[in-house]
Amino acid sequence: MIQSKLPHVGTTIFTVMSKLAAEVGAVNLGQGFPGFQMDMHLGKLVEKYISKGFNQYAPMQGVLELRQLLSAKIKKMYGHEYSAADEITITAGGTQAIYTAITALVHEGDEVILFAPAYDCYAPAIELNGGKSIWYNLQYPDYKVNWEQVKKLVNHRTRMIIINTPHNPSGTCLSGDDMMQLEKIIAGSDIILLSDEVYEHIVFDGLQHESVARYPKLAAQSLAVFSFGKTFHNTGWKMGYICGPAELMTEFRKVHQFNVFSCNTPVQYALAEYMEDENKYLSLPKFYEAKRNFFLNEIKQSRFKFTASAGTYFQSLCYEGMFDEKDTDLAIRLTKEFKIASIPCSVFYPDHLDENVLRFCFAKEDEVLERAGKILNNI
Ligand code: GLN
Repeated sequence: MIQSKLPHVGTTIFTVMSKLAAEVGAVNLGQGFPGFQMDMHLGKLVEKYISKGFNQYAPMQGVLELRQLLSAKIKKMYGHEYSAADEITITAGGTQAIYTAITALVHEGDEVILFAPAYDCYAPAIELNGGKSIWYNLQYPDYKVNWEQVKKLVNHRTRMIIINTPHNPSGTCLSGDDMMQLEKIIAGSDIILLSDEVYEHIVFDGLQHESVARYPKLAAQSLAVFSFGKTFHNTGWKMGYICGPAELMTEFRKVHQFNVFSCNTPVQYALAEYMEDENKYLSLPKFYEAKRNFFLNEIKQSRFKFTASAGTYFQSLCYEGMFDEKDTDLAIRLTKEFKIASIPCSVFYPDHLDENVLRFCFAKEDEVLERAGKILNNI
């Protein structure tokens, strides 16, 4: 008998729901990925670098031109200057960055504070490294953090706190005040903040993304994770990056070099050239805000309750008072019977807290959102 290292873990909900949606021919608003084509100019740039022969291993830490560009981009957007040489590493997506960071920094017996609903890759990475997840539950509809309560969870075993803003699955964002309170909690300690900011460019209604890179004291204790896939509509390229002080990055790279060694070379050169035009990412909030508004307009007649998403390409819909079913059962039934797939949010809570909330991805063509709207209005 094989003794599982993750006995309580099955297949991720994203894979489960996408598979079911495909099987029954449902509109798939479950797993989060853009339903439209990326900019072919970026594709052409990849072709260019392939033709020019940039096809061997990239440097372990990533292509320098790309790291330099990212350093300048972050400085301009958030104020903090990460050294391209020692403080930025290109990764095979956000999930790899997160896994590697946890592996590099969490020791046996260390505690890691997590906010539920939490993206599903955090806790298993902690467990595999012998750490202990300490949960703080956030609740529908505002998912507000009470930092006084969080402070009570901190002790000498606390090695790391993981935050995620804009937040998947709730679509809420941390505020400047949240960041300042967090800063006070970790000040003077050796707690590392792992900040998942993969939806940094998907914020709405003029909201400012609160990156740890806006807060010098936080930045000094943080590793911040970013994604190219979410920003340039190519999640399948599995490309991201991580930034943090040299001391932390040195430890990160010790693991990264044996985990993936380095990432796709022509893609990195192409991204470096493509991102010289900052409009390629600065246009994203407006683009997705229009998508969110379109989707919410399409579901105006529905019985679901919701608060408009403040960030990410997800919208939570609450079915309280409509059905008595568990969200996991309902998500499956809606996929099979109504031909619309979503993600049940209880899977992101340690105790499967069920608040009757389903998550829908609106990063889809308007025509798909229209079809989804018609279905949702009839439920
Ligand atoms: N990040 C995507 C989501 O939240 C899923 C990615 C994946 O399937 N691993 O839906």
